[in-house]
Amino acid sequence: STSRDFILTVEGLTVSFDGFKAVNDLSLYLEHNEIRVIIGPNGAGKTTVLDLICGKTRATDGAIRFKGQELTRMKEHQIVRSGVGRKFQNPSIYDDLTVFENLEVSYPRGRSVMGALAFRRDQQVLDAVHEVAETIFLADQLDCRADLLSHGQKQWLEIGMLLIQKPDLLMLDEPVAGMSVAERKKTAELLKVITRDHTVLVIEHDMQFVGDIADRVTVMHQGQVLSEGSLAHVKADPKVVEVYLGH
Ligand code: ADP
Repeated sequence: STSRDFILTVEGLTVSFDGFKAVNDLSLYLEHNEIRVIIGPNGAGKTTVLDLICGKTRATDGAIRFKGQELTRMKEHQIVRSGVGRKFQNPSIYDDLTVFENLEVSYPRGRSVMGALAFRRDQQVLDAVHEVAETIFLADQLDCRADLLSHGQKQWLEIGMLLIQKPDLLMLDEPVAGMSVAERKKTAELLKVITRDHTVLVIEHDMQFVGDIADRVTVMHQGQVLSEGSLAHVKADPKVVEVYLGH
């Protein structure tokens, strides 16, 4: 077989917590611009995989290569700068700032700038804010305080705060949890648009949403990959059926 050009190559990834292997010899290969969804029962190790990729948790063993760089040797902020964006389940937006300001403070700037309030309102930043606001369906809410947004809009704003940093890989932990059906539909649209320029790795439980967005699904169980392929493929896999019926 030919070796393809993967943006992310995870091999033999293992982490032990007091001897318990939460992730156990896991391999994962992400192609450029794909949407990969990780599913699996609670405790399967899904969140820990994302924590390992973004450097929040240190691997006991294994390799994580991203755009040719070895992430397991890098600090969390270096991994962010290399192009990995991570969104956690609860939005970490600034409630008392407007949508515009939330995006503006997230715009990447040099480390020499003195404090987050030393904004450079130059055209480049303005253009980026407007472009992202359009993408996340908030172009008409730029002056709205973030705490007045709906739950779904807050989630989109946080995705926007990551997008404005132009990551190559975007990792999202249950992005549609608590969203209305309409918001879920729009989030699926949003992710499709995002993959023109980004690769997306999502943890998700909502199978309807998984079917809407996933190019490929990785099923995790007990820290390992149980099955992988299209949603239809993994749903028909007897190993997957057994794990889900057993719950
Ligand atoms: P999932 O996201 O699939 O629900 P997690 O990755 O959160 O699973 O957790 C996998 C397992 O690892 C669980 O049994 C959890 O209790 C354990 N675990 C996760 N993080 C830690 C930690 N920092 N210390 C000890 N155990 C942990």
